[in-house]
Amino acid sequence: MPKKDSLDIVASEVTICTKCPLWESRKNAVPGVGPCDAKIIFIGEAPGRTEDTKGEPFVGSAGKLLDNLLSQIGLSRKQVFITNIVKCRPPANRPPKPLEIKTCAPYLKRQISIIRPNIIATLGSHSAAYVFSEAAIPFTSITQVRGKPRKANIAGWSVTIFPTFHPASALYYPDRMKTLQKDFKTLKKSLKH
Ligand code: URA
Ligand code: SF4
Repeated sequence: MPKKDSLDIVASEVTICTKCPLWESRKNAVPGVGPCDAKIIFIGEAPGRTEDTKGEPFVGSAGKLLDNLLSQIGLSRKQVFITNIVKCRPPANRPPKPLEIKTCAPYLKRQISIIRPNIIATLGSHSAAYVFSEAAIPFTSITQVRGKPRKANIAGWSVTIFPTFHPASALYYPDRMKTLQKDFKTLKKSLKH
């Protein structure tokens, strides 16, 4: 089956999913957007209010920051696949619960295995912790692992994991933007390999 069709199937299952309690308060599930042959996947935490309204990831204030970071390294949203570890908005934007992550992660896993990107860029600690566990790498903390590309093996194929902070954290800690900009420059170098 063409990759595009396989991704569309995942998206249509997500759209009607009721596997965890988050479906009850969502307006729209947010499966993810981007080309099926993207070389890089960005994984955030969970949709916020704007994303829940529009059914698209990173279209609110965190999304603007992500767009800026991408354009600084010469990438447009159209070139990358963007999604979240949890596809429905947690009430009042609370962090996703472990059981919600566990229940929702198989959708992300399918998306990753269809796209087979060269780089998996994780935004924030939840998606980093999940991707590290998939690659059987012990996860310490986001501050320790961020900004360093790491070759890994996920289900028999090799990939570079690139963890960084969540762009929304720069809304609360403005110093973070400098670190994010620095990390995105490192990410750009990994794209060339
Ligand atoms: N924050 C996220 O983690 N994901 C989004 O889609 C929007 C904000
Ligand atoms: Fe289903 Fe994931 Fe939404 Fe929970 S968060 S209802 S598992 S799509």
